[in-house]
Amino acid sequence: MQALTNRARPVERKPMTFVERLYLWNIFKGMLITLKHFFKRKATISYPEQTRPFSPVFRGLHVLNRDEQGRERCTACGLCAVACPAEAITMEAAERKPGEENLYREEKYAAKYEINMLRCIFCGLCEEACPKDAIYLSETFAPANYQRKGLIYGKPDLLIPNPQEQPEEYKQALGNRANKQHQAN
Ligand code: SF4
Ligand code: SF4
Repeated sequence: MQALTNRARPVERKPMTFVERLYLWNIFKGMLITLKHFFKRKATISYPEQTRPFSPVFRGLHVLNRDEQGRERCTACGLCAVACPAEAITMEAAERKPGEENLYREEKYAAKYEINMLRCIFCGLCEEACPKDAIYLSETFAPANYQRKGLIYGKPDLLIPNPQEQPEEYKQALGNRANKQHQAN
């Protein structure tokens, strides 16, 4: 048959010798490579018991922030949703009622706030757009889920723990943002 291109090379198929047919040398070479890896630094870690440090500019899962008194900072202005290039954020605003001053910092708050993690590209523009320091991208990532609806995060998934009720969890969730929050107040 005529070759379509001139790249084809004829292969010489020499019969194997008796020693080659024993494959001992090749097995030995393979074992040597395995042995070498025993003494090398491991490329893998035992996740989730061990984790690698994230880059300082890592952008992970969103957190809806509260102030030190535990009040929600978000005023449902919608700037984050407008800034989001993936249109991943939806919200519904509501008026704060008398007696709810301890729950919401501003007169208007987000009664519903959702982020579709399947759309999100973790660009951080929502955080940059927010004038109230009400949303930030944390140092964790969204866990895997078998269902699409499980990756649409609502307020219960996003809100930071209340510092008045769970101070340790609040501090942990705030991470290295503690200083920034202090400056924003
Ligand atoms: S990180 Fe970017 S893509 Fe994700 S919700 Fe914020 S603005 Fe949208
Ligand atoms: S998170 Fe910030 S930008 Fe988004 S609606 Fe709330 S206050 Fe506005």
